[in-house]
Amino acid sequence: MIVAKSQKDLEKMRAVGELIATVRETLRGMIEPGISSLDLNEVAEKMMRDAGAIPTFIGYKPRGMVPFPFAICASVNEQIVHGFSTKRPLEEGDILSIDMACTLEGFVGDTATTVPVGEVSDELKQLIRVTEECLEKAIAASRPGNRVGDIGHAVQSHAEPYGYGIVRDYTGHGIGRSMHEAPQIPNYGRPGTREKIRAGYCFAIEPMLNLGSADTKTLEDQWTVVTIDGKPSAHAEHTIAVTADGPEILTLTKEQKAALSKNSEITVAA
Ligand code: MG
Repeated sequence: MIVAKSQKDLEKMRAVGELIATVRETLRGMIEPGISSLDLNEVAEKMMRDAGAIPTFIGYKPRGMVPFPFAICASVNEQIVHGFSTKRPLEEGDILSIDMACTLEGFVGDTATTVPVGEVSDELKQLIRVTEECLEKAIAASRPGNRVGDIGHAVQSHAEPYGYGIVRDYTGHGIGRSMHEAPQIPNYGRPGTREKIRAGYCFAIEPMLNLGSADTKTLEDQWTVVTIDGKPSAHAEHTIAVTADGPEILTLTKEQKAALSKNSEITVAA
């Protein structure tokens, strides 16, 4: 069942969304050659706890798996999602996907971004840019009356002309009191199919695009997901609320909301 959020719930979703967006932007600003993902993880965990929030990923344990040990997922180059933080200094030309979530007053905000480390190739710049564009288009499709298949179609139709592998093994999801709620939100689909979208639904939408094959495999640590062909992958994610007026991005900082408020396509909380 898909849980529609009350106005009171949405206020809490906005608060946690803004907090996790602030963590994301702080980490983005730190990423440069020489820093390690473990450094970023420490900053993220401290920011969450200092704000009274719980790092949702720490100890997250699907059945049969070891608990996830970090506050962020840090996935470098061919790692798609769920990478472990390490002491290895990031190198010029790497791309790093950081994914993070926290729980504040019982509600979860979840966001991810892929950041170039120093100067990266044009090929990688384009991969990151198109992944972000896919996220924007998927969000724009998240309107009452549309269906979940319209969201997936928005991603698929934008990514396919570039020849990118669209990851199918992992999807976006409903979000609220739990990090993962119904429905699943695949990054592919046919218009007019799957669940109907209604006001009050909150989604974490997260396209993952590979430079090569869409196929994935999981490393022995049980978590790190990599591309089967070793080619790089990019990921972008926002938590959004569907309102009667259209999609509202919850995982934005105050500054980002101010900058976006001119865009009529996307509703922004005051
Ligand atoms: Mg997510």
